[in-house]
Amino acid sequence: MNRRDWIKSFGASALPAAGREKAAVDVRIVRLQLRHTWTTTMASSEFRDTVHVTYRRDGITGRGEGAPIVRYGESAESARRALEALGPLAAEADPWRFRKLESEMDRLVAGEYAAKAALEIALWDWIGQKLGVPLYQYFGLDPEDAPVTTFSIGIDTPEMTRRKVREAEPFPVLKIKVGLANDEETIAAVRSETDKPLRVDANEGWKTKEEALEKIRWLETQGVEFIEQPLPAAMVEETRWLRERVRMPIFADEAVLRPEDIPRLASAYDGVNIKLDKCGGILPAWRMIEIARALGLKTMLGCMISSSVSVTAAAHLAPLVDYADLDGNLLIANDPYSGVRVDRGKLILPRRAGLGLVEAA
Ligand code: MG
Repeated sequence: MNRRDWIKSFGASALPAAGREKAAVDVRIVRLQLRHTWTTTMASSEFRDTVHVTYRRDGITGRGEGAPIVRYGESAESARRALEALGPLAAEADPWRFRKLESEMDRLVAGEYAAKAALEIALWDWIGQKLGVPLYQYFGLDPEDAPVTTFSIGIDTPEMTRRKVREAEPFPVLKIKVGLANDEETIAAVRSETDKPLRVDANEGWKTKEEALEKIRWLETQGVEFIEQPLPAAMVEETRWLRERVRMPIFADEAVLRPEDIPRLASAYDGVNIKLDKCGGILPAWRMIEIARALGLKTMLGCMISSSVSVTAAAHLAPLVDYADLDGNLLIANDPYSGVRVDRGKLILPRRAGLGLVEAA
């Protein structure tokens, strides 16, 4: 074989060829029922609607999910409309050129990252199954490196908070939602049940830097490891001021959506909470982890309330991060799938190909 033929044959076989037929992309909205009424500073709800995407090609079905975020002007309906525009593009595209597809999706539809995440995750699930490898393996990760996940306790009455803490007994670390008027009461209720390490999320609930300073100094006496989004996302300067006055690490959540948000936050926060729904899927989340680490920030993978589809997708990247808050599927009563499992807080990744999902019986 001469050099030209060699190069030609190599180029042709570098990746498995996609089937000639178009993929079938389907979208549906799934209503997830919460086990407990879920209250944060933003809202109180009994259910959450997420968008589910299937990507079928060559007899293989990839599944994806995105949880639209009201905070960023998204809804299940707006996500569905976005996917109606993006679906035909994904159906025609070569699935092995996923990097190009990501750019094309951003050109066609602005924002709507939960919708894009749903489609992107479905494509990754398909790729993993087509290659016959779990996604963590495709990414070169050791599933044993996945950190423990916290279990989240939404804002509630002291009595219900105590009950939720008892129900969360198998989890070694809890994440407590605060940011309303009853923060001290909430922490006291938690501490009446357990001395576990806590992580606290204020969801932008404290409105001045002085209020946040007072709250954090108090939390430093309560066995709290770190605080998430104490001040509104726009208050970057105030957060920098706050960070100079407290020992407790401060994580950004609402302030950080996409890779390009991280550099300007690096001197105001100690870490970032990365969510597939905020950034648009697995590949942008990977990019965020690397950028955050390069800037000296700690990394956490978080999730919205969603089924095992989205949570398992995030869990495949968990071996890369310092902290995990991947419990969205544990807060719902009607999960249509099982995937990642949790054993005393430790994330156990499925060994099956792709995301490794199994439909619920
Ligand atoms: Mg948060």
